[in-house]
Amino acid sequence: MNDLLLRRAAVDGAEVDVRVDGATVTRIGSPGTLGRAEREIACGGGALLPGLHDHHLHLLAMAAAAGSVDVAGGLDDALRRAHARARPGAWVRAVGYDESASGVLDRRRLDALAPGRPVRVQHRSGAMWVLSSAALEAVGAGPSGPAGLEREPDGHPTGRLFRLDGWLHDRLPDHDPPDLAAVGRRLASCGVTGVTDCTPTTSPEAWHVLADAVRHRTLPCTVAVTGGPALSEAEPPGDLRRGPVKIVLSDHALPDLQELVGWLRRAHRVPRPVAVHCVTRAALVLALAAWQEAGSVPGDRVEHASVTPVHCLASLSALGITVVTQPAFLRARGDAYLHQVEEEDRPDLYRCASLLEAGVPVGGSTDAPFGPDDPWLAVAAAMDRRSAAGEPVGLDTGLTAAAALDLFLAPLTQPGGAARAVRAGQPADLCLLGLPLAEALVQPSSRHVAMTVSGGVVTYAR
Ligand SMILES: [Zn+2]
Repeated sequence: MNDLLLRRAAVDGAEVDVRVDGATVTRIGSPGTLGRAEREIACGGGALLPGLHDHHLHLLAMAAAAGSVDVAGGLDDALRRAHARARPGAWVRAVGYDESASGVLDRRRLDALAPGRPVRVQHRSGAMWVLSSAALEAVGAGPSGPAGLEREPDGHPTGRLFRLDGWLHDRLPDHDPPDLAAVGRRLASCGVTGVTDCTPTTSPEAWHVLADAVRHRTLPCTVAVTGGPALSEAEPPGDLRRGPVKIVLSDHALPDLQELVGWLRRAHRVPRPVAVHCVTRAALVLALAAWQEAGSVPGDRVEHASVTPVHCLASLSALGITVVTQPAFLRARGDAYLHQVEEEDRPDLYRCASLLEAGVPVGGSTDAPFGPDDPWLAVAAAMDRRSAAGEPVGLDTGLTAAAALDLFLAPLTQPGGAARAVRAGQPADLCLLGLPLAEALVQPSSRHVAMTVSGGVVTYAR
């Protein structure tokens, strides 16, 4: 029997001993009253919290990003270097492209930077890939490609592919399965014990890769998956939990209202809630119209809610929709938003406090690898709502430290629900900090995480 005794941990501000047997917290008592255990940890008064839940990220994309060239710091140099290093004919995969920093990117520019090389560069949002001519040829992007393959007036592809991940994946040469171990270690080091993978997967193949990683504890946490509308009725394999159905309302080609209503009804019939990706005002208004017609079920969510006009707050609340948002974008991209986002949308960026005040449950997430992967950074940004340069972003006021942390403490199946607590009888999914909670929340950071326990097993120790 795996038993563990956490000595002198601060739970809800009181110093206690906490005993774990198997995968469950079994007893909490005054220091020195719970006997001995196989493994004892001196916590020194550090805060013991439930393990954090990241309610929206992309595990396979996180693993792939680790093996890619990051072009965020300078696209031309990074690609020239990668081209010089790679063996002849090998693909170069790059991430982090942002047109405001690097300018317009198409196949011609890639061909000049890496002559003859198959190159694919992902937009920082994850919504677009840019392919070089050799890459386009390798994936067979000829005259009869799918919608989403942008073309010049003469019919040649520009190299830009919008929301075609599945199509692209089926045509790329086989690679080794992505290494999820580094992702698992990183999540554990942040105190994360549960995640929802919000990828709109169209085939269950990706789920099997994740289920294997959970079974082998390469991913040492609870994993819920979404999948797109085509997988509404599918049951995830292994120990994967079934999350909501992910519906992407693409920014440049919104679906027709009746099509969206159909997706909502299909998921609700299963029954499953939906998670609708809305990063623009238009997408949110469309989603709300669809919910008005199809009805909502508990657990229905809006992902991101990057722009929420005031008049949408009451509708979200009346429909019982949860918002799963990413406050860390305020820090990571706030300075760009202040220049690029249309003036009328700026006050409405990444709301938290005003959603909560309107009675809309709010869950926290990172959207890694498209946002910073440290949930503690999101907690910090939810509190001060400042860009990296220190500018306030959006009209909302910041959350209190406790409310910001609670964004990441709700049950995986109920983002925005009541925060979990460390209690006897609860799963032993725990995050131990090296200092008291109030001190950690002065400057929230994963640096404060001293130990993570997931399912009763220590998955990280500093
Ligand atoms: Zn996402």
